[in-house]
Amino acid sequence: MEKRPSGAGSMADDSKPLNFIQQAINSDLESGVVDKVVTRFPPEPNGYLHIGHAKSICLNFGLAQQYGGDCHLRFDDTNPEKEEDEYVQAIIEDVQWLGFQWSGDIRYASDYFGQLYEWAQYLIREGKAYVCELNAEQMREYRGTLTEPGKNSPFRDRPVEESLMLLESMKNGDVDEWLMTLRAKIDMASPNVSLRDPVMYRVKKVPHHRTGDAWNIYPAYDFAHGQEDAIEGVSHSVCTLEFASNRPLYDWFIENLPVPATPHQYEFGRLNLNYSVTSKRKLKQLVDEGHVDGWNDPRMPTISGLRRRGVPAVAIRNFCDSLAVAKTDGMVDMSQLEHFIRDELNNNAPRAMTVMRPLKVVIANLPEDHLEQITASVHPNQDMGIRSLPFTREIYIDQDDFKEEYSKKFKKKLSPGKRIRLRNGYVIEAVDYEKNDADEVVLVNAILIEDTLGKDPADEVKPKGVIHWVSAQYCVDCDVYLYDRLFSDPLPDAGDKNFLDAINPDSLHILTGCKAEASLADAEVGQPYQFEREGYFCLNSCKDSQNSRPEKLVFNQTIALRSVWS
Ligand code: ATP
Ligand code: MG
Repeated sequence: MEKRPSGAGSMADDSKPLNFIQQAINSDLESGVVDKVVTRFPPEPNGYLHIGHAKSICLNFGLAQQYGGDCHLRFDDTNPEKEEDEYVQAIIEDVQWLGFQWSGDIRYASDYFGQLYEWAQYLIREGKAYVCELNAEQMREYRGTLTEPGKNSPFRDRPVEESLMLLESMKNGDVDEWLMTLRAKIDMASPNVSLRDPVMYRVKKVPHHRTGDAWNIYPAYDFAHGQEDAIEGVSHSVCTLEFASNRPLYDWFIENLPVPATPHQYEFGRLNLNYSVTSKRKLKQLVDEGHVDGWNDPRMPTISGLRRRGVPAVAIRNFCDSLAVAKTDGMVDMSQLEHFIRDELNNNAPRAMTVMRPLKVVIANLPEDHLEQITASVHPNQDMGIRSLPFTREIYIDQDDFKEEYSKKFKKKLSPGKRIRLRNGYVIEAVDYEKNDADEVVLVNAILIEDTLGKDPADEVKPKGVIHWVSAQYCVDCDVYLYDRLFSDPLPDAGDKNFLDAINPDSLHILTGCKAEASLADAEVGQPYQFEREGYFCLNSCKDSQNSRPEKLVFNQTIALRSVWS
């Protein structure tokens, strides 16, 4: 029987078998190879984080919590062409919002540029790296294929002093882009293509978001990543499967450099979610081409989009914890994420009433100035308290809850001569209605059935349905944004499909002139609600500052009460 991870903040679910990384950690701790677990989450700041990253965040921070270790946040900022400070700030916000705190300062790959450069010089002096002048096309030719070995570069055996000097010129900006690279001297005949003299440094005359124009060369991810882990004392370096074939290369650098520690890399399967795309490049395309309104558009599978849509962080964590940490990539059903969202919101979201398509009802047997405060519970869990609902002579109900003629199909709706219970309130009976020139019902006249608050009518003619409502006098105007899935194809980017073709043209419906319960005038950003009979909603935040309340009262639909997709 495997020993369970212990430690102060243990989040491990005891009923769950250990995943292969936990098993490796246990055996490393037992054998004494490792005495403290150190993990890291290493995003490249070239886009916003998405739900796939959430899996990696929950895994890395979760392991550190379970084993009482540390998890670092390290920006892998080695490619200044695509990286921006905006992304750095968004990533920091997302990690914190998800509920995690890194150990120590935020780290950056660029903090180690000086050390990496010294190590590059070290490898040249050891005869294990050289400056190569093959251009990109020639390099491809020399590399060989999966079935054929490569050929040695004609620059492979140039003198050490020459490589050192050329590397210095590259660094100082005296060499044009693409003319020279620094390559590791490993084995052009290796069956593993990533060991065929991989590039360590490229000339890029691009300013960096942190180091400015101090550098004209930038390290390749493969030359940076393992050594950064070593510098930081990362014990278990967890990444996704696509890096498995690069592991021998990381190990080669670690073996051949005087690094302070020997991290070990473990690869797990990426999270792919159907009806969505989890690639920053594709998400960026959606933003850049205006298919959505920014990275935090509530339809985006980004952390900031989910947050703006009203998805609670705990729902994302619970979802991620439910996923297998396996050595194969998997496709997860969107309904699994939605299950965790509904579950959390059902348990914790305060209830409120909002009428989406208002229809006025005048209750004739109430005086014009009638005002009664009806109390209703905030949530089926009575501990969450009560709220007060002003009840007046004129109220709004949803157009869809009134039918001009009674029929069996609509027996739970209001129609002339029929009764309905107002949610949390009285029973009313419709008398007649008025229409406009467009033949639409614009007003319903009704009467209140007395003494029916929390009671059936004395004449025992019971209403068949319950509908939501708001006072016409004491309500607030708002807009409601109804969202559907962003893609209508479950696998929008499978095979050679163009994911843009799969965009759902009906993913956003805007309802204006909705009428919300008066208390929602003070709704706070980040507070989810269940609008009774309608779904889960939250106040939209400002696009540029997700903690601020915008001027206009707009509610985003987080999710419907039940799935319409299954
Ligand atoms: P993308 O393909 O979206 O650009 P990436 O892997 O290039 O993602 P990084 O910023 O390098 O993005 O990712 C940071 C960490 O998150 C890495 O360790 C990476 O393995 C992990 N990660 C990225 N996407 C997923 C995913 N879909 N599932 C699980 N982990 C992921
Ligand atoms: Mg990457």
